[in-house]
Amino acid sequence: MTPKQFESWLTVDARGLYCRPGRFYIDPTGPVDRAVITHAHSDHARGGLRAALATEETLAVMALRLGERRPRNPQTLAYGAAIQIGDVDVWLAPAGHVLGSAQVVIEYQGARAVVSGDYKRQADPTCEGFQLVPCDLFVTEATFALPVFRHGDASAEVAKLLTSVAQFPERAHVVGAYGLGKCQRVIKLLREAGYDAPIYLHGALAETCALYERFGVDLGTLLPATGAPREALTGAIVLAPPGSLADRWLRRLPDPLACFASGWMRVRARARQRGVELPLVISDHADWDELCRTIEETQADEIWVTHGREDALLYQIGRMGRRGRALALIGYEDEDQ
Ligand SMILES: [Zn+2]
Repeated sequence: MTPKQFESWLTVDARGLYCRPGRFYIDPTGPVDRAVITHAHSDHARGGLRAALATEETLAVMALRLGERRPRNPQTLAYGAAIQIGDVDVWLAPAGHVLGSAQVVIEYQGARAVVSGDYKRQADPTCEGFQLVPCDLFVTEATFALPVFRHGDASAEVAKLLTSVAQFPERAHVVGAYGLGKCQRVIKLLREAGYDAPIYLHGALAETCALYERFGVDLGTLLPATGAPREALTGAIVLAPPGSLADRWLRRLPDPLACFASGWMRVRARARQRGVELPLVISDHADWDELCRTIEETQADEIWVTHGREDALLYQIGRMGRRGRALALIGYEDEDQ
């Protein structure tokens, strides 16, 4: 077995991607004995793991979200610190996706594989920036792998939100934002844009925001939306999980104006379907250009695509003179969808 034949030591089965010489899964789709976890979104960090290796932040979010089903034996690994597991060396590099998110770097007999998990290259003030790791095999996501997806500048989208708030001071702007990552990024971008009024939160978002603050991400004054006087919510910005944009909860707010912060907002029909008045194209995933640039810069000869819209990307990988392979892993869904 030569180590560059990656298929012989990185295999795929019903539970996901498995590193044979290390005897661990990466982001398994169900309970396993031993896993390395890239980040705490629920499609990557499942409950019921016996042992899990991840950054301290990822394990903290997993404990918060999974409760009893959190990993029985959590083991933290800081970015850049190497550990030997079985016959492989493993280290974590920042993925720039959400707090604690990591690419898993696996070195085996002189060959290096990098499993990106979800990632983005755009600046994000709430997490460590993506680190490019040159490698022989790069395993990439493909959530937004179509040339139509170009996310643009997130702070320009937040500026649109602030313009609307100034224009409609009698309305509550409700921003649908996924609870881990997107919510805190939107808040932080508002703060960086000089917005220092209290920001109101749907109850489902409070704990994760508090956890970000514990890890040193200052989000300014956050108040619960539930129970807040109607006058206070007039002209205010309220963050809520995307699902709540369609439910009764919204009706309690003064003349709510529905906004949604997501890469999917590039597609007008998606915004209309959800009744979104102000779509904000803010994504925590790499867009088409970032995917192509990253594949190029890793210098990897071989690119595996875990999940998402892989056809266009595989075609592009071929054009770039690299070997592409669709893993078609089941069970990874962007939490925003
Ligand atoms: Zn994710």
